[in-house]
Amino acid sequence: MCFRRTIAAGLLLPWCLPSASADVFTVKDDNGEQVTVSARWGGSGRQVAVLEFPNGRVQPIPEDRILAREPADDPAPLTGEELAGQLVDRFGAGRTVTRVEAPYVLAVVMAAPNGADRATKNRVQALLKKAGLFLKGVQTSFENEMRELEIDLQPLRYALPVVIFESDSDFDAYYRTELGEQAGLSAKNVASFYDVLSNRLILRARECRSFDTPLHESIHQLVYNRGLIRRLAPVPLWLHEGLASGFEGDGVRVKSGPRAVNERYASVALRTRKADWTDLVENDKAFQGDVLAAQAYAQSWGLHWLLLTRYPEAYQQILKHYRQVEPLAEPDPAERKLLVERSTGKTLPELQSEFVEAVSKARARKR
Ligand SMILES: [Zn+2]
Repeated sequence: MCFRRTIAAGLLLPWCLPSASADVFTVKDDNGEQVTVSARWGGSGRQVAVLEFPNGRVQPIPEDRILAREPADDPAPLTGEELAGQLVDRFGAGRTVTRVEAPYVLAVVMAAPNGADRATKNRVQALLKKAGLFLKGVQTSFENEMRELEIDLQPLRYALPVVIFESDSDFDAYYRTELGEQAGLSAKNVASFYDVLSNRLILRARECRSFDTPLHESIHQLVYNRGLIRRLAPVPLWLHEGLASGFEGDGVRVKSGPRAVNERYASVALRTRKADWTDLVENDKAFQGDVLAAQAYAQSWGLHWLLLTRYPEAYQQILKHYRQVEPLAEPDPAERKLLVERSTGKTLPELQSEFVEAVSKARARKR
């Protein structure tokens, strides 16, 4: 899962201050007030501009709200320590403990305010350390896998924020505040998420036992931050979710990448082989609703697995196409199916049949 919002409801821009080293924008906020902000230009489309702030947040703003722009150098990204300071400000000094494990900046939001006893402090420190080590391992596995697939990664521009809520009710409240009704899911059904606007990975502490959903969400964060897909670009969900579903962990580290058979997804994909790949690729409807979404994730994993193991050059072409799509660009539904079929020289039903046969054989070999 990852969340792509279009225009954020609140346009109060409290996180940024003018700086001499950046483009300076004069913007009209939700209250009609003029606000001056320092930001990096992140592109524009459909009459909406995207501003990028030094903490890695992107903010879509209707172009008619930008009253003036004075060009200057890009603002310097926040250091890990500065970003940690922002997280403490956001979640409260009495409740927030941070750890910088570059490139990650981790924050645990404690269930109870400070004054915590030694056992609680030790527990929080252990959680920060464990999560930091796990995520750094994910990053290394991701980089290694992309290198082997000859997929270029851009260097990181921003430190990567990770917020871990000890309490489920705090997680739920944050989810509702940040995403409101837009995501279409109730907070309690969300185990973890990556927020494409704030660039934050948001985790429940209990998910850090298996790191199952944190692994998936952290791949979303890496995909965006290493330049494979631009944030807010209209890129099909089969590509987003196939990429994020390609890595499997064992609770301590990543144990396999997208070219290995993921037993869980493979069995769902085979059981639900009537879920049509043409539909999956043509539109994102398959990802709506809990039951259908589970099938769509498995089928997206399957399409990736097939492309990466049998059509690596076609996959390169598809990825090359989508990594150039600009934020908020006009979506092009007609091209989605065409791109996969043209790159592979096969129709989607042919590819799906090939997958069923190939993954069945691969599973048989594993046994
Ligand atoms: Zn996802």
